[in-house]
Amino acid sequence: MIFTSLGASEEIGASCHYILIDGTGILLDAGADPEKEGIESVPDLQRILSNPDWPVDHVIVSHAHHDHLGSLPVVVKMFPHARVHMSAATRSLSDILLPASARLQRRKVEEGSTEVAPLFAEEDVEACSYLYQSHELETDFDLSGLKARFEVSGELYDAGHVLGSVGVHITWVENGKERTLFFSGDTGLRNQTIIPGASYPDDPVDVLLLESTLGADPDAELFTRKAEEKRLGKAMSKVLKRGGVVLMPVFALGRAQEMLALVERFKTRGLIDDSVPVYTAGMMRAISDAYDKSRQTTPRLNEEFEVFGVKQRRLPRTQGGLNEALKQPCILAVGSGMMFERTISNKIAQMLVENEKHGVFLVGYARDDSPAALLAEARAAGKGTMVTINKAHGPQAANCDVERFRFSGHSHRRDLLSMVDMLQPEKIVLVHGEKAAKQWMVDNIKFFYPEIEVMMPATNDVLEV
Ligand SMILES: [Zn+2]
Ligand SMILES: [Zn+2]
Repeated sequence: MIFTSLGASEEIGASCHYILIDGTGILLDAGADPEKEGIESVPDLQRILSNPDWPVDHVIVSHAHHDHLGSLPVVVKMFPHARVHMSAATRSLSDILLPASARLQRRKVEEGSTEVAPLFAEEDVEACSYLYQSHELETDFDLSGLKARFEVSGELYDAGHVLGSVGVHITWVENGKERTLFFSGDTGLRNQTIIPGASYPDDPVDVLLLESTLGADPDAELFTRKAEEKRLGKAMSKVLKRGGVVLMPVFALGRAQEMLALVERFKTRGLIDDSVPVYTAGMMRAISDAYDKSRQTTPRLNEEFEVFGVKQRRLPRTQGGLNEALKQPCILAVGSGMMFERTISNKIAQMLVENEKHGVFLVGYARDDSPAALLAEARAAGKGTMVTINKAHGPQAANCDVERFRFSGHSHRRDLLSMVDMLQPEKIVLVHGEKAAKQWMVDNIKFFYPEIEVMMPATNDVLEV
């Protein structure tokens, strides 16, 4: 088997890998780099296209996050004969997220905030969505390519990361011997609030393609979800009791729904008064609906729980309505998670940060230069430290409570090692992580499992696995 990564290999970037198994070509993920625009954000598909011996027969999408799904319409256009596979939930999420991505790209051009032409339009996305094939978990489907001499088959396993997320198990015959590969996608081994931890194949695999997002994060394994829940509940209760507003900037897919479930838990336990209004907005509401519709057909900790069972109001769209809403204690779970400019969370943060009675609680990943991380850094330096979270608004004093909490949907690095223990691969290829993250994984796998061959390929490297 041949393996090569088409996305960036030394940062998180766009997840997209090509494997060639005895004439069958498969793309694992079709992500786009969230920090880039236009063709720059797309994996290097040209490298596959220009090689006549590298067909693309199938595309498998592990989950609906942008860095795994965002360039699918480009891939479909480039390889029109490829069959596209995903879980049913990822398919319904992609029908929400890809048109939204098309609209966002168009809007940016119309506003003049970019000159980069949109990669695809809403019509393109709708036209190809009927091609996607969805599969039940742990059920075989055919992955043989046109030129395959032997059968190749696939199976999806719950990855415990967000709704619809899967790991991909591939089986084929090589030199008369059955071989297996497992692609982790993004993994969450532990239960979250709505979705349970991952479930993996029982038998050992030959090759493991393993994500390494949290490989360089020594702190992640020190935090327990339970302790973080408790800390967040206390912090929220403190702000609300003194008449403040709680802003939780969240990612629309995954964190938003998990946090709403947590707010419900705080209310049930009496930590937060049941009458405190919760506001939500934008695309996350459509995604919450997809969570609810699939609650009996996808893995859940409690299939009775509905995200819209959590009492919530739509955030007022007018400035007047918003001012009115923020006059009394309330909770806002709105995007974007990193509080980027021109998003609702950024706009509301500008209204709150100078008043010390409010609280901004960061519950997801925020890269160092994002407004969310800048605000946290300023507040940690002391009350009143000046910070610019919006260039048009200018510097503001960070007076409100700002705290960061760890509710990652990713496995921390000890859990990634326990995955190695479970799947007992002969070879591991590390993907989807920064260099330092992968290096930690390499060092530790070599130490604990010296019999396993571990590889950390750079983009463009072609491995014979
Ligand atoms: Zn993800
Ligand atoms: Zn990812």
